[in-house]
Amino acid sequence: MATSAGGEMQADRVAIGQQLRRLRREQQWSLDRLAMEAGVSKAMLGQIERGESMPTVSTLWKVASAFRTPLSYFLGAATLPAVAPQPGWHQDASGMAVQPLFPFDPALGFEMFVIDLQPGALSESAPHSPGVVEDVVVVDGEMALFVDGEWQVLTAGDGRRFAADQPHAYRNDAERPARFHDLIHYPGAGG
Ligand code: MN
Repeated sequence: MATSAGGEMQADRVAIGQQLRRLRREQQWSLDRLAMEAGVSKAMLGQIERGESMPTVSTLWKVASAFRTPLSYFLGAATLPAVAPQPGWHQDASGMAVQPLFPFDPALGFEMFVIDLQPGALSESAPHSPGVVEDVVVVDGEMALFVDGEWQVLTAGDGRRFAADQPHAYRNDAERPARFHDLIHYPGAGG
């Protein structure tokens, strides 16, 4: 990674921290309250707010769900649609990278991501806010999706819609990366 990429990560981290603090103040939640609602430690939340720690995608998703706000709210919605997978990608320790394709649009009530799963990747998603629905469409490779208590294998061209206000997970058991589009509907969020 070049220095410029490092600089962008830094900027992202600070922007995410500021956004988090702003949301928390709007909501008038203490760090303790947010820790409880999101299931993320108070220490970690403090580090993220101060820009000292770059949250993983799954941590950020937990926080977004606690606030009932779209994930792309944190991911620099202004930088769109990224075809080149360089800046803006948020790599998770789980082997999952997420990039906004269409940032949240309040008029339409959805956001859409391109998600890459490295071989061996496992990403467990905490339930989103009540009523949230996901459409997963595999673009390349093969992946397994855990929903309604079971794993199902999806290959390129397959799509599944499911209620995302329950635990769900994505896994790549194959030997090459998988890519899918993840469209997240927030019913009632539209204008
Ligand atoms: Mn999800």
